[in-house]
Amino acid sequence: MADEDAGDSLLITGATVLTLDDKREIIDNGAIAIKGDRIAGVGLSNDLRRRFPEMETLDATGKAVMPGFINSHTHAVLLVLRGTVEDMSGDAIFGYMTPISFAMSDTERRALARLGCLEAIRSGTTTMVEPFRFITGYAQGMVETGIRLWLSENGADALTLKIRHGIYEYDRAFGEEFLERIVTMVEQFHDTQDGRVQCQMAAHAPDVCSPWMLGQLNDLARKHNLTRTVHLAQSPGEVKQVRVAYDRTPAEYLRDNDWLGSDVVAAHWTYCTDADIELLAEYGVHMAHCPANSSRRGPHQVRIGRILDAGVNVVLGTDNMTEDMFEALKIGSIIHRGGLGGKHEGGGVDPTPQATLDAATRNGARALGREADLGSLEVGKKADLTILDLNQAYLRPIINLVSSIVHYGNPGAVESVMIDGRFVMRDGRVLTMDENAVIAEAQEAAVAAWHQLNHTSADIDLPPGLR
Ligand SMILES: [Zn+2]
Repeated sequence: MADEDAGDSLLITGATVLTLDDKREIIDNGAIAIKGDRIAGVGLSNDLRRRFPEMETLDATGKAVMPGFINSHTHAVLLVLRGTVEDMSGDAIFGYMTPISFAMSDTERRALARLGCLEAIRSGTTTMVEPFRFITGYAQGMVETGIRLWLSENGADALTLKIRHGIYEYDRAFGEEFLERIVTMVEQFHDTQDGRVQCQMAAHAPDVCSPWMLGQLNDLARKHNLTRTVHLAQSPGEVKQVRVAYDRTPAEYLRDNDWLGSDVVAAHWTYCTDADIELLAEYGVHMAHCPANSSRRGPHQVRIGRILDAGVNVVLGTDNMTEDMFEALKIGSIIHRGGLGGKHEGGGVDPTPQATLDAATRNGARALGREADLGSLEVGKKADLTILDLNQAYLRPIINLVSSIVHYGNPGAVESVMIDGRFVMRDGRVLTMDENAVIAEAQEAAVAAWHQLNHTSADIDLPPGLR
């Protein structure tokens, strides 16, 4: 068990070190020294060998060492829908995602969440930001995988199971159940595992949170000093409901209820107006952008160019159906070239590979208020890193490493992953989970969850593979 107990100190040498520091320095024949859970040195291999002669060394010749990905917005449990709703028409959010999340048992949610952690680690992710519901029933299963977590319970007081029938009904008792679960979550998980596990305050979305609910969530965020997150302008139905109920856009509605600020990460922005984008930028709201999932039913239409022009900090997430951040890098890069909006309209090669990679690493750290600890390989920061084996047919030749990673990287290149100074994956083997068991349990749980959904909601059919 020596590997898992690394903990003390390690000198990784001979690597191409992709620091992602302010200068975006890439060090050939580089080294990184790790003491406990922090980075003690970054530089040339020869220099660091002299400075840290006592350290055990790991030869990483032919490998790249980079900061682990920060998946800034995901719902791992929704892997239960993988390979189904991508190919169905109609509203997936309230038509399938919400109903199945209620139909599942804690055991089933836990099984899918652990599958998500396994996929995340195997694809080089070290931090997952997971807002969902019933989180206290399954989060421990994620914590045990060793991944860094920001957990939140997606507060709402609209009866979300009625929305697929066209009914918006706000119910205080329903909202209070969320608030109780949020308090339990904070007590059980916030700032635990030596700080590896944190909590956030989440409002599910403007259409499902009344002003009362948004106020309650704000009170809790202030009381526990938590950052906040929300889905924003995600669907035409949301925009319509907020217009009908409050005569506002979703962004204006959040502003009027004190839900905008530099501590807020808002996901999607798909139906934001130009004025909304200006408003959100003015308040310093971060944008969690999830191009891969959103594009599976056709290219995600958000006008990322206008958002970048406004100076917004854009961070990347997978949202659902995958935990593979290489997909977010690749698909985000492809779909936004040629139709960015704003001054980038008309094409070109923006966003650059560097900007895209930043969104998956250092920008994510900034959005969490943790740029002093995460997001780049620099002395004093947490040892959260990924080692890529560069000798892969799909990566070679490598002329510009960042470009190769963004356009052609995939989980097969991930050799080792370290979080908090400990390997959770080493030499291709995940150390914190029994992979075969995790996969088998997730498969069984997904089939059971679909049957349970079909049983409790007669209007929802089984997908083709289960009929
Ligand atoms: Zn989401």
